[in-house]
Amino acid sequence: MERVLQYIDKNQSRFLEELKEFLSIPSISNNADNKKDVLRCAHYVADQLRQIGLQQVEIFPTSGHPIVYGEWLGSTGEPTVLFYGHYDVQPVDPLDLWTSGPFDPTIRNGEIFARGSADDKGQVMMNLKAVESHLKSQGKVPINVKFLIEGEEEVGSANLDEFIASHKGLLKADVGLISDTPMFDRGVPSICYGLRGLVYVQIDVSGTDSDLHSGSFGGTVINPNFALAQIIASLKNPDGQITIPGFYDDVLPMSPKEKEELSRLPFDPEKYRKSLGAPALFGEKGYSPLEQIWVRPTLEVNGICGGFIGEGAKTVIPAKAMAKISMRLVPNQDSERIANLFEGINDHSNAWWQSLAGAD
Ligand SMILES: [Zn+2]
Repeated sequence: MERVLQYIDKNQSRFLEELKEFLSIPSISNNADNKKDVLRCAHYVADQLRQIGLQQVEIFPTSGHPIVYGEWLGSTGEPTVLFYGHYDVQPVDPLDLWTSGPFDPTIRNGEIFARGSADDKGQVMMNLKAVESHLKSQGKVPINVKFLIEGEEEVGSANLDEFIASHKGLLKADVGLISDTPMFDRGVPSICYGLRGLVYVQIDVSGTDSDLHSGSFGGTVINPNFALAQIIASLKNPDGQITIPGFYDDVLPMSPKEKEELSRLPFDPEKYRKSLGAPALFGEKGYSPLEQIWVRPTLEVNGICGGFIGEGAKTVIPAKAMAKISMRLVPNQDSERIANLFEGINDHSNAWWQSLAGAD
């Protein structure tokens, strides 16, 4: 290990320069204008894989952006680790909120700022340089390694499933290591062993055939904005618990060991509150903030629209209102079952709906 660490120390500034090169490629996967940059970035990754001493390096085209692969299998009999990462990044708007350019990597207070520095180019580079340091200082890695670096993570990894299914032999491994998550804190090594799932729904509320004038018709019909507000308000109680019947039925309780490990982490709720600029923390009663964000399911309203939102006043009763809702799920919850339970609140025979007479 000594020689590996010496190699890292000796090459640290080059590693940083290479990270900056990687970060300066605008590989925005959702923007057609950046298609060439994304391809250039795939080639940059492939070149890196070759330079650090990996074998069978290949760029696999897909119907979207390519997947880059490389391996080193010289530790016969030892386990094989498949590293996953992505070289594409999210869009950069609004540009005026950047202190330095998104593709002009800049170090401030010991942190490097650029699009992709924390998601996921920094992590990819870290793994590549770890393997390089082993290979170049002692000619081997103590395990076998495979790298799969894709270019479509930020657009839903549309071609990844099919690639994995058709390259099972190539990707065969004992351990899959996804390096696409943050560290808990500086100096706190972190293994992320689970992420919450997601159900996303849209609520459309329609009332009348067209918008109505509140002076002529107000008082005789239910306003979809109002009905929507009531629907949304009914989804959680004041203790932050989700009220959809059956929502928590399958949630596995935390093991005492897990609870204890979580409480040992250096976490300061007040520092956390300040970092968010929140007037106060609010979450499901009976759980710590870390439990709330890591092991408890949630329901959030992501967007609402309905009626007149222009300047000035317009006395309209809108015909329609809409909201987007997402639910984060935890182990043992089934996304389809939760979606069905959510739809169940649309059951007109239940008491809640009866109370909203006239709404559809
Ligand atoms: Zn990512």
